[in-house]
Amino acid sequence: MARTRIAVMGAGGRMGRNLIRAIGESADAELSGALEREGSPQIGADCGILAGLEESGVKVTDAMDAAFANAEAVLDFTAPSATLAVAEYTAANGIVHVIGTTGLSADDEAAIGEAAQKTAIVKSGNMSMGVILLAELVEQAARALDAADWDIEVLEMHHRHKVDAPSGTALLLGEAAARGRSVPLEEKSVRVRDGHTGPRDPSAIGFATLRGGSVVGDHSVIMAGPGERVTLAHHAEDRMIFARGAVKAALWAHGRQPGLYSMRHVLGLET
Ligand code: NAP
Repeated sequence: MARTRIAVMGAGGRMGRNLIRAIGESADAELSGALEREGSPQIGADCGILAGLEESGVKVTDAMDAAFANAEAVLDFTAPSATLAVAEYTAANGIVHVIGTTGLSADDEAAIGEAAQKTAIVKSGNMSMGVILLAELVEQAARALDAADWDIEVLEMHHRHKVDAPSGTALLLGEAAARGRSVPLEEKSVRVRDGHTGPRDPSAIGFATLRGGSVVGDHSVIMAGPGERVTLAHHAEDRMIFARGAVKAALWAHGRQPGLYSMRHVLGLET
């Protein structure tokens, strides 16, 4: 069977280089193009060399038409403004869009929802198998533990370069906890605490953010009850876990009906 042609956005970024490697590892995928923002020093670079592999013959460009000319799917771990611009392009051209970018606003999410009426989009704040499993466990635990007695707090730490908070993964885990409790996260989340906050609202789902060093991504969901505490945690050691998940998502979505899908769909946990 022909390999699925996949283009990479933000090819020179931390995730971009890993995405190029993950496509290279897959027997079912081939790299068809690579995009960087206008003025990037990576323009013209060979993708293989950029990713620490052999020369690939695929050069980084700043022109969407050239980067996506033969693409059946685009892997996008960049920034919200770039993701929205690409969502318009992929929707207009029926190209699968795999979105790993985090820090999207409610308006951004609405625009992505609209684009998903025209093409298949897989979007997830975390594309690693371990975190998707963790989210399942968090949902189960939140459902089982009485909300009146058990407080839920999500703690995350990332490298010093990360620009959004809480992380997309922390929010994904908060969503899982909210699903378990059958409450809307937007009404229950407490993202910041400072000064005289008063006692904790028992129904709150709290977030705490740490930044520093080179941490790829640490997440803990702490369920604090009377006299005991349960902690469910995930530690990412290598960005390839996200990159392999993104390739898997692109292969799964290729040929699907337009729609907004998550990694839960890709893994068959949701239909
Ligand atoms: P990064 O190293 O800063 O990489 C982002 C890349 O995108 C950079 O090369 C950047 O170029 C490029 N870019 C920016 N605007 C662009 C445009 N208009 N067109 C093409 N390329 C553009 O960041 P990262 O650590 O790889 O993370 C990227 C995103 O992925 C973040 O939102 C992060 O939270 C998310 N992420 C998600 C997952 C997941 O599993 N869902 C996992 C890891 C990271 P410049 O540097 O030149 O601006």
